[in-house]
Amino acid sequence: MKRLLFLLALCFLAACGKPVHQSYMEESGKVKVLSTTAMIDDLVAAIGGEEIDHLSLIVGDLDPHSYELVKGDDEKLARADLIFYNGLGLEHGASLSKHLASHPEAIPLGDILYQKDPTSFILIEGQLDPHFWMDVSLFAQTIDPIVSALSEKAPQYASLFKERGATLKKEMAKRDENLLKKMQTIPDEKRYLVTSHDAFYYFAKRYLASPDEKEWKKRFMAPEGLAPDGQMSILDIQAVSEFLCAHQINTVFPESNINQDALKKIVSICQEKGLHVKIASAPLYGDTMGKKESYLEMMEHNGETLSDYLP
Ligand SMILES: [Zn+2]
Repeated sequence: MKRLLFLLALCFLAACGKPVHQSYMEESGKVKVLSTTAMIDDLVAAIGGEEIDHLSLIVGDLDPHSYELVKGDDEKLARADLIFYNGLGLEHGASLSKHLASHPEAIPLGDILYQKDPTSFILIEGQLDPHFWMDVSLFAQTIDPIVSALSEKAPQYASLFKERGATLKKEMAKRDENLLKKMQTIPDEKRYLVTSHDAFYYFAKRYLASPDEKEWKKRFMAPEGLAPDGQMSILDIQAVSEFLCAHQINTVFPESNINQDALKKIVSICQEKGLHVKIASAPLYGDTMGKKESYLEMMEHNGETLSDYLP
């Protein structure tokens, strides 16, 4: 038995190699790439491969909107030859946003895409919605700027980065198409979504709306605004409960990184109105990947969960 466990441990080490955190913090001669979110880091890892060291600054279920630098982050930032961040106002924690704004090699991927084509991006009450990773086809557009920035830092691998970028684009296009097909098999009158905060407008526009639907914003509602650290009023809660009644929606979806207090209030208000609403037992992943292994796995989980509960 001991021998079996030993062999299993060896296999595990061989499969996983050195933990990414350790590689990033050690001298290796490779380009060090830091990304603020795990979703961006996942794409960077797929493109950079073994030729770079990479790390995500915000891990697990920590809120990227309000993330403030903690002990040890200074060293991670100091080691970075290149930083990728979401931009569009996502990382608005004072210490992090100050650092990103002053860093000469920090690239705001969302802002770059927005400048190229503002029409793909969503405004909510005059504010740019930063959650563009919730549309796989739009998030895939970050591949080109990632490939260019990595190639500038390590020109000897430029063709390799380009090749991996092209493979990733194909994979993301396929997964985007699959998710779209899956969501569109849910009946039209059931494709309405309520979650904890305003993270799913891009998802609603791309996957829940019918083709060319102009009123796609009406497919989604949440009691908390674009950042879950914002203020939430009883009016917001009432508006969501009216939305649930109007569309006869029976399930609301918690998000992995946000407490369920607002959703519980909504459920009790609906109960008083005679509408039975439950909170889905599986959370959706909005702002974070949580324990999911990859960005595409996170999006697939969201698709699976919605097709389990919505119809
Ligand atoms: Zn958010």
